[in-house]
Amino acid sequence: MTEFEKINVRGVHFANVTPDEAETICTEMLGGDRAHTVFTPNAEIVQLCIEQNEYYDLYNGGDLVVPDGAGVVKAAKILGTPLKGKVAGVELGERMLKVCAERGDGVFFLGAKPGVAEEAARRMTEKYPGLRVGGTNDGYFKKSGEESDAVTRKINQSGAKLLFVCLGVPAQEKWISENKDKLTAARVCMCLGGSLDVYAGVAMRAPKFFVDHSLEWFYRLIKEPWRLGRMMKLPKFLLGTYREKLFRR
Ligand code: UDP
Repeated sequence: MTEFEKINVRGVHFANVTPDEAETICTEMLGGDRAHTVFTPNAEIVQLCIEQNEYYDLYNGGDLVVPDGAGVVKAAKILGTPLKGKVAGVELGERMLKVCAERGDGVFFLGAKPGVAEEAARRMTEKYPGLRVGGTNDGYFKKSGEESDAVTRKINQSGAKLLFVCLGVPAQEKWISENKDKLTAARVCMCLGGSLDVYAGVAMRAPKFFVDHSLEWFYRLIKEPWRLGRMMKLPKFLLGTYREKLFRR
């Protein structure tokens, strides 16, 4: 597999890759002989790790960990170890759907509210002819025990090589880390948060202006003001990063 450099941003080790390189690595993983995990944490998640250290092992345990957010990229720059840039999970996921459509590999959508994964499958197969969605399951099941095992069996029976796990953070990373060894066919398991909602047209990505100006967080705050508490992690994260920089000197 293509080697890649890892950059430590406040304790989380991010792959220093462009979106193209991330796609290449994921494609190579598709041809591997085990289930690989792809995580896409943003600054909120790094701050979660800083506040609750037990999450470091979880996130650093991913086979490919890419920075899904301007906050992480900014922090890497502040610390003097810049990353090549942001790799949006929702975009990397869609790139991999295109790859699977071309290769003829099946995919499985796990997560979101009932009906959303099916709608995402309908829209994505329309957009990428040849794409085969081998199965879907909503994300509201018990994350351990028999209900969870039934979900892993369903994924195995589908024969899908690419699995999207969209159960929200950090539940999705926890669930896949605990269950990936039970997967017999899946080779790339991507934790993609709210991406199925986006593919299904249930949620909108921020308009280009917000994306280009690193203001996706602001757009999300306007649309979902109840996220304010969670979002306060971002200024905390950046302040802490400047503090770390000062102490390192
Ligand atoms: N979700 C789920 N099961 C749960 C909780 C959440 O499938 O038990 C889904 C939710 O419906 C949404 C996705 O997880 O589609 C991610 O939610 P969010 O937009 O909050 O993303 P996050 O920032 O948590 O990754």
